[in-house]
Formats: sequence, structure tokens, C-alpha cells
Amino acid sequence: MSAWKNISLWMDQLDSFDARPPLENDCQVDVAIMGAGFTGLWTAYYLKQQQPDLNVIILESEVAGFGASGRNGGWLMGQISGQDTLLEASDEALKQLAHNILHDIPDEVARVIAKENIACDYKKAGVLYVAARYTEQKYRLLEYFNELKQAGYNQTDYEWLNTSQLEKKLNISSSFGAIFSPHCATIQPAKLVRGLADAVENLGVRIYEKSPVTAWKQGELRTEKACVSAKWIVPALEAYGAQLPASVKKLNQYHLPVQSLIIATEPLSEELWHSIGLASGEAFADNSRQVTYGIRSADNRLVFGARGTYQFGAKLRENFQLTTQEIDDRRRILVELFPQLHATQITHAWGGNLAVSRRFSPHMIKDEKQGFVLSGGYGGEGVGATNLAGRTLADLILGNDTDLIKMPWVKAQGSFHDLTKWESEPLPWLGYKSVIKAFDFEDKVLTQDDAAKWKRQLAEKVADVFEKIVQ
Ligand SMILES: Cc1cc2nc3c(=O)[nH]c(=O)nc-3n(C[C@H](O)[C@H](O)[C@H](O)COP(=O)(O)OP(=O)(O)OC[C@H]3O[C@@H](n4cnc5c(N)ncnc54)[C@H](O)[C@@H]3O)c2cc1C
Repeated sequence: MSAWKNISLWMDQLDSFDARPPLENDCQVDVAIMGAGFTGLWTAYYLKQQQPDLNVIILESEVAGFGASGRNGGWLMGQISGQDTLLEASDEALKQLAHNILHDIPDEVARVIAKENIACDYKKAGVLYVAARYTEQKYRLLEYFNELKQAGYNQTDYEWLNTSQLEKKLNISSSFGAIFSPHCATIQPAKLVRGLADAVENLGVRIYEKSPVTAWKQGELRTEKACVSAKWIVPALEAYGAQLPASVKKLNQYHLPVQSLIIATEPLSEELWHSIGLASGEAFADNSRQVTYGIRSADNRLVFGARGTYQFGAKLRENFQLTTQEIDDRRRILVELFPQLHATQITHAWGGNLAVSRRFSPHMIKDEKQGFVLSGGYGGEGVGATNLAGRTLADLILGNDTDLIKMPWVKAQGSFHDLTKWESEPLPWLGYKSVIKAFDFEDKVLTQDDAAKWKRQLAEKVADVFEKIVQ
């Protein structure tokens, strides 16, 4: 049995595999990438597409897909976190260009997996943001729908569905309507990340697994056994930047690691699926502050996640054997949405580390002087964003003047100074704890049908205030 099976349902579904051999000897390359998750692999892929003779290596501490890329919820979104705030100051032409680039992400991934023959259960059926469980979700979702219209999106990007229109796609108990967007696909993440690793290897990229980087300085990476000299270095580590040795620990000031946790049901019967919907394979979420996300897997399970934890001092969480409480919290919401699943077995529960930037949106920068390009801070919306990042970082390294590098999240002549730092502890820990308490209190009160109006309003107000404080 492969040692990585218990990482996630997705890894459990793969045939067992061994780690690729580690780096044993010193070498000199054009580009050295730290991390074989989606960011590192997409960057290598697009570099080799454009310049096949480029000498590229990837150093991975465990195996390709060990991080968030092999554990996530399988939403492949045609958007990035915080895009409308980032585009606020842009003119209409740039906004339109950006929307086109972002909406094309799922289709770009479809083109690559077709070309490279990567079977990863890809389905593009869009996403449903559903107002459910309590009426307050409807007012908030309508407010969001208006914001989307004001930001320049049209009916083909985001459509309001009333309850009978929603029922044709998804049957959620006590729903009040939904926003549907076609710009989202679903994938089996481990199949995509492992398939992509094979594809870049076929293009001549050398991937060394079980090769954690222990030191990074300009033009040089070190592992325990060898030293790599490189013109360009790509720290594609997301949350794992926090684990780098003290000399380069800088990254965790910008990429704060938090955890998201998921459960998966046993495969459900046709009868249950008939009562739930998702016949085309849409992704879905409710509109609470629990940051829920769900999909129907290719083997007919319901995979359902929600926001997780934060560890003092921006420490990575290593043990993802979820507690009974963590499983029950997710199961409770799942059963509120689909009461018919009350007796369904949960067969898998897992989680992973992801990173949030201080501006709650990703950044892609090139520091020519220090010889690195960096992308990260995807904030739980990284599956699609990493594909965009891979193309953007490749263009930055190759010095291509493309539409991608005109985007407001890109700094073509940048440095760490362009990024906003997180506050020092205990502020992130206190902030996180209070926000989660306020959000949990809100969810508890609003799901009680008989809660007094003043109590509902108070719970919502408190959650609003805490949400604004951290932004
Ligand atoms: C539970 C969960 C659910 C999510 N759901 C979704 C979703 O549905 N949709 C969505 O868009 N996003 C989702 N995300 C976020 C998304 O998965 C990530 O943003 C994305 O996978 C990040 O990819 P990455 O390559 O940047 O980082 P990672 O995949 O984390 O890769 C970093 C790699 O670096 C390696 N590494 C660490 N230290 C070192 C070192 N010292 N030297 C060398 N290598 C090292 C790690 O082993 C790892 O393989 C989710 C995340 C989690 C955790």
C-alpha cells in the first residue's frame, strides 16, 4: 500500500506508487522550483511548452500532490479570490480582459488534460451558490448578486435561480434561491496533480521527491545531500513556506497557513442521488460564513468541506486525522442541507494547509535582482488560480510581454516589499479565534427557527463586525 493513501479520498483512489528518487548530486539549471503542487508543476509545464530546451528541476519534500493540491475540494474555478477589489481601479477594457482570462481557466485546464491525456474526472457543469438553512442567507446572496452586476458581470456569468429553477439542478432542504455561474469545473485533484507531474517529466523536467529544500539564497537551493545553482528560483510552496528554515522564513509573513477540513460519504445510491440532484456534476456551497464547498465525486460520493483551523505562530498542521467534533461539525451542516443523508456513513475525513495573503487575494511577482518568481496567497481558491499562476510565472521568467502580466495581481518588477505583511502574533491567532467564535455563534443562532429576531440580528451584526475587522 502506498504511504500516501491516507492523505485524502483522492490519494486513496490512486493505484499505489513509490516516491521518485531524491536529488543526490549537485547540479546547475535554468529554473529550480520548490514544491511539486499545482503551482510548481503548472509553471514547469508552461516553461517547457514555450522553451523546450530550458533546464528545469523540481524539488519536492514528499511526493507530488502531498500538499493542498492532492487534498482539496475539487472545485476548479474560473476566478481568483478578491479579484473585484484588485480590479476596482482598472479601466473597463482591462476589467473585461481580466474577466475573459479568469473565466477561461477551466477551459485552459481542459485543453491541457486533453492534450496530455490526463484522466482526472474533469466535468464542467458550473457552480451553485445556494441560500439555504436560514433566510438571512437569501438577503446576503442577493446583495452579492447586485455587487456582481455592479462589477460588470452579466447574466451569462452569474444568473439568479429561484427555488423552482434551482430544484432542477440541486434539491437542498429549505433553500431560498441560488446564484449559478458556468465558470467552474470539478476534478479529482490527486489524479490531476500526479498526471501533471508525469506530463512535465515527459517534457524533460526532472522531479526529485523526498528532497526537502533546507536552504535558499540568491541563485542557490540546498537539500540535505546536494546543492542546486539556478538562474531562477520558484518557491511554489503556498502554506508550506512557513516551514522553510529561519534564514528564508520570510514567506510566512505573507502566506499565513490556515487549514480546511473535508468529509466524504460512502458512494450513494441512485435513489439518493435522484433526491439530491447534481446530475450534471455542479459544484455547490451554501452562503454561510462556514465557507462550505461540495461536489459529487465520479464514484458517486458527496464530498463536503468547510473552513478549519489556525495554529498559533502560523504553524502548519501535520496531523489531519480529524477529531470526532471536526467530523460532526461538517456532517451537521451536510445533514441540514440533505436530511436524507442522516444515516449515511462518512468513510473519509481529511484536511490540508492552504495560505491566505493579508489582502485576501493572490499575488504573482518577479524579483529580477534576487532571481525569483513567486505566486501564492490563493486563500482556498487555488486550484484554478495555480494554472493562471503557472502561465504567468512562465511569462515572467521568459520575459514575455503578454496580457497575463498586465493583470493587477502581477508585479513584473517586484520584490517582497510589494506584499503586505501579516501582523505578528498574538494578533492573527486572537483575530482568527474571535472571528470563528462569532461565525459559529451566528450559524448556531440563525439555524434555530425559533430564535428571537433581536438575537438573530445581534448574531449577524457581531459576525459582520468581526469579518470587517480582519479585512
Ligand atoms: C482541504 C482543502 C480544500 C481546498 N479546496 C479547494 C477547492 O475546492 N478549490 C480551490 O480552488 N482551492 C481549494 N483549496 C486550495 C488549493 O488546493 C491550493 O490553493 C492549491 O492546491 C495550492 O497549490 P500549491 O502548489 O501552491 O501548493 P501545495 O499543493 O501545498 O504544494 C506545495 C508543495 O511544496 C512541498 N514542500 C513543502 N516544503 C518543501 C520544501 N522545504 N522543499 C520542497 N518542497 C516542499 C509540499 O510537500 C507540497 O507538495 C483547498 C485547500 C485545502 C487544504
